[in-house]
Formats: sequence, structure tokens, C-alpha cells
Amino acid sequence: MENLSERLNRLSPSATLAMSQKSSELKAQGIDIINMSVGEPDFNTPDHIKAAAIRAIEENYSRYSPVPGYPELKQAIVNKLKNENGLDYKPSQILCSNGAKQSVCNAIMALVNAGDEVIIPAPYWVSYPQMVLLAEGTPVFIEAPIEQDFKITPEQLEAAITPKTRALILCSPSNPTGSVYSKQELEALKNVLLRHERIIVIADEIYEHINYVGAHASMASFPDIKERVVVINGVSKAYAMTGWRIGFIAAPDWIVKGCNKLQGQYTSGPCSVSQKAAEAAFAGDQQCVEDMRKAFERRKNLIVRLAKEIPGLEVNDPQGAFYLFPKCSSYFGKSDGNRTINNSTDFAMYLLEVGHVATVGGDAFGSPDCFRMSYATSDENITEAMRRIKETLSKLK
Ligand code: PMP
Ligand code: GLU
Repeated sequence: MENLSERLNRLSPSATLAMSQKSSELKAQGIDIINMSVGEPDFNTPDHIKAAAIRAIEENYSRYSPVPGYPELKQAIVNKLKNENGLDYKPSQILCSNGAKQSVCNAIMALVNAGDEVIIPAPYWVSYPQMVLLAEGTPVFIEAPIEQDFKITPEQLEAAITPKTRALILCSPSNPTGSVYSKQELEALKNVLLRHERIIVIADEIYEHINYVGAHASMASFPDIKERVVVINGVSKAYAMTGWRIGFIAAPDWIVKGCNKLQGQYTSGPCSVSQKAAEAAFAGDQQCVEDMRKAFERRKNLIVRLAKEIPGLEVNDPQGAFYLFPKCSSYFGKSDGNRTINNSTDFAMYLLEVGHVATVGGDAFGSPDCFRMSYATSDENITEAMRRIKETLSKLK
């Protein structure tokens, strides 16, 4: 009898990956789809990083690594945190995993008991609430609409906290909105958290380097809360290494030990060759990061300009990551005579099937008035996608 566990039945599939899959299927049928659904850099991994991986294979990095990662990789991460973020961590406070996705999940599984509440600002990255559900916790959402540049206020945070609150997951720069919390904004949230000792901050900084405001602000930079912060980061976005699957946490020893125990029973240390590549990424020349960041910034300016020319879309000016998250609810209730758009999932499906542009509806991000476009694609693709979207939406009356 087909009978999956209740734990699994509680989960929804990843909407970002599902939409990307659908777009690939249509492409395989010969339909010219522009894929703006999944969020991953379109660049190839830089050559010096690939060379390090080739060397690692030749040098027989083919055996199990220590569960938290090779000492050299952890040291490269410690150095990165010191040099780029001004943060002091010991190698024992670093644990590398199969992508930042596993890092977030490890932290949640290590910290959240059944019935614990985890505060998640909405819009959120699709996987956070699902991971909390996996841990039998309760996601508690704080709505941060476009009028607030999709950022929560200290007052909202205070109001959402209860004696059951165990963690806050804060993503800056944000997927899906591109919003970036300034140091002052983080400090104001931190001051609320200081009043509630039980709460751990899971600070997802995977888009740290894709930042258009200059310096990146980390919640761990405040000494009075650092002992309660789990920093999440990795190589996927900054170094165009999504397929290599290396992420890490930097956290207090007790949390790292807990995650180590979990990972030791679940997946072991991440891929040995990828670890050597990640070490080269962190320790090597950082010019590639800046080159890609500049390209993303140029594309951001392009997509924001073109999106603002489309009637009925409301757009913020994202300050990081590579997503645009326009409000599209003015189209709800409209029809082209055949199809009526009732929600953001209908909206994204219409753009895919009629306009041949793959995006993701906002429902999966907890923001049903919006939809997400990843602009990690060429200027030509962005320009053509926005032309198609404009033309497609003009059919809706
Ligand atoms: N956090 C956020 C906000 C993301 O967008 C992603 C990208 N999937 C991840 C974590 C995970 O990244 P990865 O597992 O590829 O390192
Ligand atoms: N972070 C990317 C996204 O949001 C990758 C897909 C995923 O892991 O969900 O599209």
C-alpha cells in the first residue's frame, strides 16, 4: 500500500524547483521558454576553482572527509568571516554541508522541538516553513508587504514573539524580494531579540555578495547577540557553484556539535572534491565575485526599468540577490476571454503557457499578491522576457 509518513505528507514540494522542471519539460518539447523561475547564477564556475577540483581528484581526495568538512576548508571559512565580515570564529564553530539548504535544515532540526514556533518574515524563501514543519515546529509569519520594502519592523517582531518562540529566520539580502536590511535595521531587530533569551537567529546570508548597497550587514556582528546567531552561507550564489553543493554554518560550539551529530548520521561530510573547490573559492582571488556582482547589478537596473513600464505591476527597487518580486494582484479577476487569472499561481502559469516566460507565483513565498522573476540570465533574455510579459499581460482585460 502506498502510504508515506505523516511527516512527509505535511510537506509541499519546492515550488521553485517544480516551476523550473515544468519549464525544462516545455523546452524539451521544442517551445522557446525563457526560464526566470529557479534562482541560480547563469555564469560558469570560475576557472581557478575548477582547477582546484581537478587537482583534488588527481590528488585522490576520494575518501570520506571529516563530518564538518576538511580542516583547510574550515580555516578558509574562518579567514573569510574575519576578513570580509570582521567576525571571529574558531574552526570548531564551522560546519560544512551539502549546500546552504542542508545548513538551514540542520540548524532547524537541531534547535526546534515539536510545537516550538519559528518566526519567518513573509515573503520568505519557499523551503523555510517546510523545514520547520519537518521538525514538527510551527511557522509563524510576519507579513512584510511591498509598502515596507518587504522588511519587518521591530514592532512586528515584538508582537509575533510568544513564550514558544524558538527561532527567527532572517534572510538578507532576501530571496525572493531582494530587500537588504541595513545595519541599523538589524540592530533594531536585535534589540527586540535581546529581551527574549530563548530565541536563536538563523541568519541566511547566502546572497551576501550579491549586494548593491556596498557593505553587507550580519546579525552576528553585534557582540551582545552573536552567541545566539547561526550564520548560514556558502558558495552557490557568490561563486556560481550551485551544483557543487557546499554551504556552511558559523555558530556557537553547542549548535555546531548538535548539527555535526545530525549530519554524521544523515549525510556525513559533503563531497570531498567540492570541498577543495570551495576552499579555492574562499581563499582565492575575489575578483570573479565582483565581476558577477556588477553583471547582476546591471541586470537589476535593466529589469526594474522594464518592469516599471508594464502597466499594473508594482515594483520595489531590490538592493541585493537576483530576484524581482513585483506585485501583480491588479490582474486578479481579469481574463483574456478564455482564461481568468484568479491568483498568483494562475498568473505565473499564464506567463509560462501564453508568454513562454517561467516565473514563480508568490503563494509559495507566502505573498500571494506577487510573483518572482530571477534575473540571473542574460540582458537579451531579460529584455525579451519583459517584452513577452508586457505583451501577454496586455491580453488581460
Ligand atoms: N537560502 C536561500 C535564501 C536560497 O535562495 C538558497 C538557494 N537555493 C539557499 C539557501 C540554498 O543554497 P544552496 O543549498 O544551493 O547552497
Ligand atoms: N534558491 C533557489 C531558488 O529559490 C534555488 C531553488 C531552491 O533550492 O529552491 O530558486
